This record gives sequence, structure tokens and C-alpha cells, in this order.
Amino acid sequence: MKKVVKFGGSSLASAEQFKKVGEIIRADKERKFAVPSAPGKRFDGDTKVTDMLYACYDLAESGKDFKEQLKAIRERYQEIIDGLALKISLDDEFKTIEKQFKDKAGKDYAASRGEYLNGIIMAAYLGFEFVDAAGVVRFDENGDFDAGTTNELMQARLNALDAAVIPGFYGAYADGSVKTFSRGGSDITGSIVARAIKADVYENWTDVSGFLVADPRIIDNPETIETITYRELRELAYMGAGVLHEDAIFPVRSEGIPINIRNTNAPQDEGTWIVESTCQKPKYVITGIAGKKGFCSVNIEKDSMNSEIGFGRKVLQAFEENGISFEHVPSGIDTMTVFAHQDDFMHKEQKVVSGIHRLADPDSIDIEADLALIAVVGRGMKSTRGTAGRIFSALAHVNVNVKMIDQGSSELNIIIGVANADFEVAIKAIYDIFVLYQL
Ligand code: ASP
Repeated sequence: MKKVVKFGGSSLASAEQFKKVGEIIRADKERKFAVPSAPGKRFDGDTKVTDMLYACYDLAESGKDFKEQLKAIRERYQEIIDGLALKISLDDEFKTIEKQFKDKAGKDYAASRGEYLNGIIMAAYLGFEFVDAAGVVRFDENGDFDAGTTNELMQARLNALDAAVIPGFYGAYADGSVKTFSRGGSDITGSIVARAIKADVYENWTDVSGFLVADPRIIDNPETIETITYRELRELAYMGAGVLHEDAIFPVRSEGIPINIRNTNAPQDEGTWIVESTCQKPKYVITGIAGKKGFCSVNIEKDSMNSEIGFGRKVLQAFEENGISFEHVPSGIDTMTVFAHQDDFMHKEQKVVSGIHRLADPDSIDIEADLALIAVVGRGMKSTRGTAGRIFSALAHVNVNVKMIDQGSSELNIIIGVANADFEVAIKAIYDIFVLYQL
């Protein structure tokens, strides 16, 4: 068995946390490939090293003095090195970083140093080989992640090693210049490493004991999800459920490697298993609920729209021409509605409206703003009658008006559109009916 272990920023924020990580890794000899984040927050109100690096580089880029800020970053690492009684020095590394900042090596380079330095410390602490991610994670000339080349480079390097630390979050272009993934991207690195070494499990260690059925900021003490499929997770992650970066699923998914979300502060907890498929029945009919605020709907009316071939394409073309992606397109006989992110849409709304008129010649267009979308996700819904009925009666009971309903053909999710103001109440009503009262 081979296991890849990725540790998030809070798991590596201090020497004390590092020790817990060391214990976890040493407790299982199959944990041989480790992916660290940069040191995160040690306490409420603390600053993540990644954010310190961005702020420090901003100063460097605008030609201001950044010595103090770089010193504060250095102290974060020194505190860890001293706390672990390691005999390493980051002097040369910080000299290089200072020079690169002065030479304006770029924001991505700056942010990547968080993981890079933490990787050096972790490798020294564990006695594993350090593998710079810039040499094994590749981006193409458009800045897109190059999965094929990465897999080849990563395999060539890691197959020759018994144990290694590969820092998360960044890689490089073919010319060696550093590029990062989006925030939280160390999760993706962990997944890439797991794919390359054909791991049996990708353990993702964080500060919660797994994925929760609903957002704890909305639901008090929500239940943990024991097992979730990649597809369910994708739906939930896309709709804003945190814990794992939404793109982290792809590399392991192609190899059928399960992800186990674990808690560094409670290693005895089993956490959540993310799997390709399972015969395990979910505990409740629904696996999870997630949602996002900030959508608007563009409602288009035209008599006999249903018989006009190509109408939908023309409407969507107006969105495409303005570079706006759409979320959902529910339709009626003479109506069609397009949901888009309000932030993207707002600045271009009149261009889109005139575009629709020019391309599709509708009778009227009406825009509604401040909407939220809620995804109720669950593989158990497929075989259970009345799920939709229960959702809607729960919402009616708490006086929430449903503005849109969309059920994917996979019967894996039901998407509901409500007013932003009803968002929390709606999620609570759905959680209560399926989980609290276990109906
Ligand atoms: N350190 C990076 C961030 O804060 C990446 C990561 O932690 O995954 O976003």
C-alpha cells in the first residue's frame, strides 16, 4: 500500500502542529509521500504565510521597502525550525528570495515560497527527500495545468525515491518560471502526486474531521459525511462547500484513487471517504447541501419560442460573446431563463440584453437580481421517491418562495433558486427535514 498525505496550512502552522504531523506520518509506514501547504493561522486573527508573502511582494513590486515584512515571514519559519530543534538554516534561501523580490520575479513566485520553504523544513524533519514542485508540476504556455507532462515528470522523479516531500500549490512553465494554482491549490498537488505514484489512498489532512452535510456557519454542529462519491463532491464543491479545492478531484478520479479527509488534531477520527462508487448506503437520503448567493436571472419571453429552432443557441450566444458563463437555463413554452453570476453579469448587462435582441428577437427581457442557488446532492435520491416533494414542502413551511428548480438527469442533485435573503432559512429547512428529523 502507498499513501500520499497532504497537510493543510493549519496542520503546519507551528512546531507543535508539525510534531502532530510527524507522529501521524511515522505511525504508518505507508505514508511515504507528503505534500505540505504553507504555514497557516496559529490562532484566530493570525495571518497565513501565503498572505504575508503576497503583501510583502506588493511592496517589492511598487518599489517600497519590504525588509520588515520579509523578516516577519522568516520569523515564522525560524520559530518552527527552533521548535523542532532542526539543524538547518534558511539563510541562503532568504537571500535568494530577497533578490528575486527586488528583481520582481512575480506574484506567483512570491506566494509559492510559502510551500517551498515549508517543504524544506518538513523534508528535514521527516528525513525524506525534498522534491521542488517547479521541476515536476508543469503548466503550458496558456497557463493551464499540463496533466500529461506533469504525470511523466512526476513519475520519473518519484519512482526513483522511497520517500519524498513535494511542496503544494505551485509548479512551473517549461522555462522554469513559477506558477501557482488558485488559492487552496495544495490539494491539487496532493492529488497529482497520488496519481503519479498510483497511490492506494490520498489522505488529505486538515483541521476538521471530514466533509460536513451543510455549512457550519448556517447549521449548528452539522453531521459529518462518512462516504461521498467524486460526482457528489464535485456538485457540492462547485456550489461552495469548502474543505477541498474543487479541482483536486480530477487527477485521482482518473485513477480511481479514494481521498480520505482527516483531522490532524483528531487523527483517531475516520473522516470522510471520497470514492468513485460505493455500495454503502448514505446515512440520509441526501448526502449534502451547499449553495451560493449572488446570481441573477435573465428571463426572456417570446411567443411560440418552443417551435423556433435555434432560439436557445442565439440567446446563449449573446452570453458567449460577452464572455459570461451561464449556470442554469430552465425553460417554459414561451420563456427561457438564464442564470449567471451577478458580479460577472452586472457590468455587461446592457450589452447582453441588446445582444439577445439582435440575435434572437424576443418579445421581452426581464432581469432579476440577488438570487441564491442551493444544491441538494445525494446518490440516495435516485432510488427514493418524494425527495423533491419533501424539499418543497419544507420550503413552503418556512415561507420560502422557490424561484427556480432544476434537476439534473442523473438524479444526483436538485438545484433550487431562492432570493438571497431566504438562503440560510432554506438550507436550514432542508437540513432539518432530511437530517435532523431523518425523514
Ligand atoms: N498556501 C496556499 C493558500 O493559502 C495554498 C494552499 O494552502 O493550498 O491558498
